Amino acid sequence: MRIDVLIVGAGFGGLYALHKLRSIGLRALVLEAAPSVGGTWWANRYPGARVDIQSLEYSYSFDEPLQQQWHWSERYASQPELLRYANHVADRFDLRRDICLNTRVEQAHFDEATALWRVRTDDGRTWRARFIVTAVGPLSTPNTPAFPGLDSFAGPVLHSARWPHEGVDFGGRDVAVIGTGSSAVQMIPLIAERARTLTVFQRTAAYAVPARNGPLDPEREARIKADYAGFRARNRRMRAGFGCELAPHALPTMQVSAEERQAQFEQRWQIGGFSLLGAFADTLTDARANQACAEFVRGKIRGIVRDPALAERLCPTHPIGCKRLCVDTGYYDTYNRSHVTLVDVGGTPIERITPRGLVAGGREHGFDTLVLATGFDAFTGPLTRIDLRGRGGLPIADKWRDGPLNYLGLAVAGFPNLFNLVGPGSTSAFTSVITAIEQHVDWIADCIGWLDASGRRTIEASADAEARWVQWVNHVAEQTVYPHCNSWYLGANIPGKPRVFMPLASGFPAYADRCAAVARDGYAGFVTR
Ligand code: NAP
Repeated sequence: MRIDVLIVGAGFGGLYALHKLRSIGLRALVLEAAPSVGGTWWANRYPGARVDIQSLEYSYSFDEPLQQQWHWSERYASQPELLRYANHVADRFDLRRDICLNTRVEQAHFDEATALWRVRTDDGRTWRARFIVTAVGPLSTPNTPAFPGLDSFAGPVLHSARWPHEGVDFGGRDVAVIGTGSSAVQMIPLIAERARTLTVFQRTAAYAVPARNGPLDPEREARIKADYAGFRARNRRMRAGFGCELAPHALPTMQVSAEERQAQFEQRWQIGGFSLLGAFADTLTDARANQACAEFVRGKIRGIVRDPALAERLCPTHPIGCKRLCVDTGYYDTYNRSHVTLVDVGGTPIERITPRGLVAGGREHGFDTLVLATGFDAFTGPLTRIDLRGRGGLPIADKWRDGPLNYLGLAVAGFPNLFNLVGPGSTSAFTSVITAIEQHVDWIADCIGWLDASGRRTIEASADAEARWVQWVNHVAEQTVYPHCNSWYLGANIPGKPRVFMPLASGFPAYADRCAAVARDGYAGFVTR
């Protein structure tokens, strides 16, 4: 079948891309491997899974009736509510007729003779399309570490990102969780409620701030909805694309007194969520400022966890915000429970999994249920697992062998008419991703419209623009604390992956302005034919 745009993935990115591209008269089709729309919120359904950005901000802005009429029940929506929202959007905008579920893209090759993409899916069907939009999500390829003996484990092995749909009853079980990132921090308190014993294997202690979740305040909802468009516009001028109600302190962290600093941190701690990182504007760029914020959180951990030695083991030592901050409900307090044990595997890595537990530091730890909260092969994982080839048959995996070369985070030299949503080289990981999606999709729609109006068939990043962009992404990262820990932003969580800083840390407004300027300049840095 011949179509204008094939969209890979029916998460929030794919749904909006379909709606938007249709609205400008293009024949677009979504191919989705899962049996449902919803992407991340279809796959990640472990206990406690919920968004870490407030739902009034983590939601679509493109349609005023939608944002007025949809009501979120909580400040931070849970996974089931987010999945209902994705389904509502699919129905409301009549998207389903152009979505093929249970259809995994296995191959996509650019045919230079016809300037078309030839795509093959796992059911043997083939498709031809002028353009491809990859809406595969930066965090959709689960990372399962190659622990020796994993297959020998006698009980269930669960991964946070591939949770059984019928749920898991941990009642009376001896459970192990490997990992202490965002997924683990959300699930650990709830697993501890049910399990007989819970053992958490920690490689790196995490910073977690309280979500202060609860029912959505009707007054706040009414206030925001009274001028939702203005609220969204103000958010789009914020570094992270959200949080416009709370400006950072006017002065740098170390220029205020210790008392004032503490009061500012405390106020943000009480508000909850990411607001702590925005208390001062220099938290992520100044080492001393960062250290002050980090020490504030360590003080909180020491205040919550009653056993001082255990509290110290839970205190992170890397810069705060360097790995994505975790947003929790009762995480540190869970370690006060007598049936919960913390095992450090940072210095003494997990050696092997046995039928009844695992061995680390020469000692076997027993349990009957194993939960891997070990994260994702971020950004590049979803695309390098597709047989995706550009000009000259070059596989994307080869092109990205030393890191994900790209221009504006949207395009890759040698891969004409292919656009990546919220991929490496864009600010997606540091923003409310739906805001990032809308900016990307609108830019892509304008770009295709411009190309078609010009009578040209292909557009691709020039190698030169791509090289300069990647240099810029690295340069921006070097001004921040981000390179100073082993995060998924750097690929450092995946053994053998090149250590390259992948997202752009410039802030959303600077990035969006740059994308707009490139378009205004006739798609500067792109080659058209
Ligand atoms: P993650 O942040 O990458 O955490 C994975 C955890 O597994 C880390 O603690 C990591 O330790 C550990 N780990 C990995 N391999 C290991 C090994 N071989 N041995 C021992 N420990 C190992 O993954 P995630 O928690 O799934 O979160 C990923 C991202 O998804 C988040 O940063 C966030 O952007 C998003 N997310 C958001 C929410 C939310 O609150 N809305 C919830 C879940 C996920 P190291 O730290 O030492 O690498």
